[in-house]
Amino acid sequence: MKNEMELKFLSVSKNESFARSTVASFVAQIDPTMDELTELKTVVSEAVTNAIIHGYEEREDGWITIHCKILDENVVELTIRDEGVGIENVALAKEPLYTSKPELERSGMGFSIMESFTDELVVESEVGKGTTVTMKKQFHQVKTVCH
Ligand code: ATP
Ligand code: MG
Repeated sequence: MKNEMELKFLSVSKNESFARSTVASFVAQIDPTMDELTELKTVVSEAVTNAIIHGYEEREDGWITIHCKILDENVVELTIRDEGVGIENVALAKEPLYTSKPELERSGMGFSIMESFTDELVVESEVGKGTTVTMKKQFHQVKTVCH
């Protein structure tokens, strides 16, 4: 099955749960398991929270775009993009426990969580231009029912 959607919303923290449940309801059409759905919602949350807190530094006037594709064989590709401050050193940012905001009691685990709940994570960023996080996740294989 192939399907696709795009969602664009402001960097307001209330939109985090909106984004999480909207993506989950779009992906419902491939009958995810509860665990898969929980993992998907968690990675959307982490990426959107990063865009709000780090990308736009809690200014509530930035746009966040989520592009979600359902590819063949139940692979879901999620792209979460902001036009915020960008990341100077992506490799460092992806290290477990690295956070640029320890004063906010962030634990620096967002990218590690995204990595562990998906099959592929690519972070592209340019200082002053913004950040794009692309994740691919394989959902359970389509079962062929034999009668
Ligand atoms: P946690 O997610 O555990 O609350 P965190 O957000 O600091 O803490 P990560 O999500 O792993 O940890 O992100 C690591 C670092 O990467 C952040 O501290 C921040 O410096 C940078 N970063 C992540 N996403 C963005 C973004 N969209 N724009 C700018 N910087 C980002
Ligand atoms: Mg984070």
